[in-house]
Parts: sequence; structure tokens; C-alpha cells
Amino acid sequence: MTPFERRTRRAQSRLVDVGADVLALSPGRNCYYLSGVDRDQSDRLSLLVVPADGDPTFVVPTLDAASIRATTWVDDVWTWDDETGPGPALDTALADHSPSRLLLADRMWTQFSLALRERLPDASFGLASEVLAPLRRRKDDAELSALRSAAAAADATMRDVRALGADAVGRTERDLSAYVEKRLAAHGGEGVAFDTIVGAGPNGADPHHASGDREIRAGDPVVLDFGTRIDAYPSDQTRTVVFDGDPPAAFERVHDVVREAQAAAVDAVEPGTTTGAVDRAARSVIEDAGYGDRFVHRTGHGVGLDVHEEPNVVAGGETELEPGMVCSVEPGVYLTDRFGVRIEDLVVVTEDGAERLNRTDRGWRC
Ligand code: ZN
Ligand code: ZN
Repeated sequence: MTPFERRTRRAQSRLVDVGADVLALSPGRNCYYLSGVDRDQSDRLSLLVVPADGDPTFVVPTLDAASIRATTWVDDVWTWDDETGPGPALDTALADHSPSRLLLADRMWTQFSLALRERLPDASFGLASEVLAPLRRRKDDAELSALRSAAAAADATMRDVRALGADAVGRTERDLSAYVEKRLAAHGGEGVAFDTIVGAGPNGADPHHASGDREIRAGDPVVLDFGTRIDAYPSDQTRTVVFDGDPPAAFERVHDVVREAQAAAVDAVEPGTTTGAVDRAARSVIEDAGYGDRFVHRTGHGVGLDVHEEPNVVAGGETELEPGMVCSVEPGVYLTDRFGVRIEDLVVVTEDGAERLNRTDRGWRC
């Protein structure tokens, strides 16, 4: 049985548990998770129909059928063409199950969810995440292996970036960002998992700075936050480095504090610990150093097919960590108009603690 089929069977038993009959998924992360079909939604309806009992069915436009059949374990692929529209194929796929409660892909386009509601006026509807989010929180071996590969590509890229040393001075953020993306691809990555962040000097104080035209100067702290995908799974890693020269006053101290906070939070990760306790471990180090009000975001987020997914590592978070969960640990301190420092690694919750997926140097000196 493929990992995709195994997940589908588990989803089917959860469907029964929550009193729903059918999962109806348009292309997207949840559809990929169960079927292996990795594509975007388009104006032509494609739908994976997973009943509580029996085998799943795809309803797809004729022109996409061959490529979908080639990438999925799902045998039943019903097609529709542009003259007839998807209605009859959809009716056939749903008829066997006469669903009374359907769970729809959370990010299905409204035009498709409304069409389903019109076809099934007596049914009730909910979100697929009700069944799939709890499954996706704990990664299986295939997922962990993809996440490890993506993290290794990010680590190798970070080593390449450090090796630039003084050669990075004079390059723009945008230029360095393009270099990062080229190296990610050279290390086996497919595209970027999110917009690459290169924040030099004061720009590093904006946690989501978009790489721009600022030239990197000697002594600039530079925040680099980037990720790629391998086998559909992302990496997400941050380092703050100084390529050449002496950093501004207070930078070394702030970097030490963030590094200590990050280590404390990673040390706190183990099964049974709450996400709130992990956040507290990082935040208390930063508060004790007097920078509590400059740590302006949560300590981390779950990572899987989505770069941001459950569980959030947030103040007061009550989710208990379980083996197989993967999250980022990324405390930061942001001093407006001066510089920012963030250090981020992904960690897997293991049976007795945590495994760091990112292992490159966390220091600031290149
Ligand atoms: Zn990041
Ligand atoms: Zn992150």
C-alpha cells in the first residue's frame, strides 16, 4: 500500500468518527496528501471524492485525465468534457454515496463549493480539515524523509552563502536572494517554499521584509530566511550573519540572547509538552534580557505540506506535542531602524525529545 492510500484509509475511518459521508477535495495540499496528485485548481472542476466506505474516485476534465492517472493510486477516474460540463460525471461519482454530510477542501474555490451545494440541496457541509488536519499533524516516514531532504538542501545553501564572506558586500538583497534560490536548486530543491527574505541592516528589523535594492554593507547584520521543496515538502530556516566588518553596538549581545532562546525552546520540545511551554522557554530568555517587547511573533509554526500549518507554537498554546509532529523554532528580536536577529530551525518531535532537521552553524560570523 502506498503512503497515499494508507492516509486515505485512515481518513475514511475518521470520516465515520465525525459523522460525515464524503470528502470532496479540489486540487491542493489535502488532495495531494491523499492521492499524490500535485496540481493547482483551475477554472475546470477537478474533484477527488473520498467516501467513508469503498474506493475514492476522481472527477476530472478529459484533457487532464492522462496525467492524473499517471500520478495517482486512485483507479476510478471519471472524465468530463467541455461540451457537457462536469455535472453528469459529478452526479455519477456522488450517486453511490447519497451523501448527507460532505467535508469540502478548505480552500476550494467558491464557484465549485456553491455548485456542489446546488446539486445536493439537502446535504450539510463542513471543512475537510476537520478530518485531515489531525492526520497531517503527525508526519509519516515518507513525509519525514522528504522534510529531511529539503532541510539538507537549505543547510547546504546556507553554507554556500556563508562562504561568500566579504564577496557578499556590495551585492543587493535581491541579488543575494537570487543567489540563494540558485543554490537551493543546485542542491536538489524545487522552486521556493515562500518568498526568500534577505533583510540587510535596518531591513532585518522587519520580520517579513521583501528583498529589495539595498546594498549589503560591511558590518550589516543580514537576516536570511528561505526554503525550497523536495518531493512536495518544504524547508524553512533562518540565520542572521555578518559577512564582513564589525556589527553595530548591541548586535552581538542580541544575537547571543536569540541563540540561547532558540536552544532553550528546542530543548523544551518533547512529547507531552504543550506548544505554549515551548514558546515560554524561548520568550522567557528574551524577556529576561530586556527584549520581550521586541519579540513580536510566535515562536514557531507546524510545517508539512503547508509551510504554516498546525500546531502553532504560540504563547498560551495548549496543543500537546506528539511524536511525528514537525515545527519551526524561530525566536527573533527586532530593533526598529537598527537591525533584526532571527534564528530558525525545523524540529521533529521524537519518542523521547526532538530531532533538529537543520544543523548548520548558528553563529553570526561568516
Ligand atoms: Zn522562515
Ligand atoms: Zn518559519
